[in-house]
Amino acid sequence: MRKIYILQILLILWLITVFYMIFPTNAKADNGQEERPMVAFTFDDGPNCVQTARLLDGLKKRNAKATFFVVGEKLDYESGKYSEKTVTQSRALVERMVAEGHTVANHSYSHCWLSKATKEKVTYELRKTNELITQITGQPVKYMRPPGGSSLTTPWVREIASPMITVCWGYYDTRDWECRNVDSMVDMIVNNTFDGDIILLHDNYETSVDTALQAMDILAEKGYRFVTIDELLNRNTGNGWTLDPTRIYCTMKPGDYSRLKKEKIV
Ligand SMILES: [Zn+2]
Repeated sequence: MRKIYILQILLILWLITVFYMIFPTNAKADNGQEERPMVAFTFDDGPNCVQTARLLDGLKKRNAKATFFVVGEKLDYESGKYSEKTVTQSRALVERMVAEGHTVANHSYSHCWLSKATKEKVTYELRKTNELITQITGQPVKYMRPPGGSSLTTPWVREIASPMITVCWGYYDTRDWECRNVDSMVDMIVNNTFDGDIILLHDNYETSVDTALQAMDILAEKGYRFVTIDELLNRNTGNGWTLDPTRIYCTMKPGDYSRLKKEKIV
């Protein structure tokens, strides 16, 4: 009788161990900070000499972190598209982003629709932009967003981009490049944002910068923290779980392992 009892206890312990191996608890949640809901504001198509600078000031004031998906040619003296002065200012803004704790990521060199380009062109667009960013920041580029989100259905673009992680955005789009109504965009963000959301805006419009800062003030009152893509996407990594360059990341909710990769235990 006693033997059966011990066997039952051992079986329960084994089941608990297997459960935690399959569904690991998030160790990061223990330090308290990560329990607050978090959201990643992301800004595409910059830097913009006036608006990005204004945005960085606003983020600093709020102790908010963000992610900038920059266009390579804006940082390139050789592109012939921007004046030397503009390129110098843009590069200084990228330096400032990193110095102030933001993430700088790749949004192609010429803002071209990657999935419609040749493989050679995609390779060039991504590599050249990474070279320019790294030249300025001294850091490797870990994330990319295809212009227009156009690589949603093209795994070969992600294959070329690897080991960079492809990042899109959450369930709604303010279309801030078209809509210039700050109140309606702020409403859309504060009414739809959830813990783990990725918000898409463009830091080349005054209205988009106003929208971001006003939405942050309301979300901060609800307890939100504003984090980089790097912090948001890695909230559930560790314990052998890593980000997967073959997937597209649009959100990262607490305890979401669905798009993560588990390293094989050898
Ligand atoms: Zn874009």
